[in-house]
Amino acid sequence: MGGIGSGRRSGFGRDTVEGCRSLDIDRLHKAGCLAPGHWGGWEWSRDGQRIASISMRAHKERLVLVYNVRCDGGEWQSVEEPVPITRAPCRYGGTRPYFLCPGVVNGIACGRRVAKLYLDGRYFLCRHCYRLGYASQSEGALDRARRKATKLRHRLGSGSRWDEPTPPRPKGMWRRTYERRRRQILEAEFLADELFEVEAAGLIARLMRHDRTKRFWS
Ligand SMILES: [Zn+2]
Repeated sequence: MGGIGSGRRSGFGRDTVEGCRSLDIDRLHKAGCLAPGHWGGWEWSRDGQRIASISMRAHKERLVLVYNVRCDGGEWQSVEEPVPITRAPCRYGGTRPYFLCPGVVNGIACGRRVAKLYLDGRYFLCRHCYRLGYASQSEGALDRARRKATKLRHRLGSGSRWDEPTPPRPKGMWRRTYERRRRQILEAEFLADELFEVEAAGLIARLMRHDRTKRFWS
């Protein structure tokens, strides 16, 4: 039976799919792990070193995952998790397998048809059950606003520097189109400026709190 290390909860904002161990049904399928009667292992490695592993047993319509897990640095626990498997038609003929998420959240069975399951606690569940986001979603609103403004600038053929003036209307571009795009850039930059101020104010407040704490104890 494999050890999976920790189904960890980071405690720093929203966990992301990129930060979790995952099982991809396509990869399992290609590796022959879904063939009924198959009994084998699956492992995760980093820099060529095995860092975690589980065992799995395939039945006709389910895959049983068997592993040891430790959450939040607690005791190791043995888990045997049966995950139903379904097959759905592909767009170009044939069928492909999917997991049916075995998660139960607030008493409601998930049952979503998914290609990937994640370990962010004791069980492998879909990203909806763990409320996992993607790294790009956890980026600050400020970064997003800046990236949007940069993208809009590039569309007008400008560099991405903030202090560059909005470029003149490119040859052949309708005046209306140009005005609309220029307005979009200004709006995005305005939003980024506002968010920057909010973030800066928060940072200053934090620094002042920190400063007070230090002084109190010295
Ligand atoms: Zn789910």
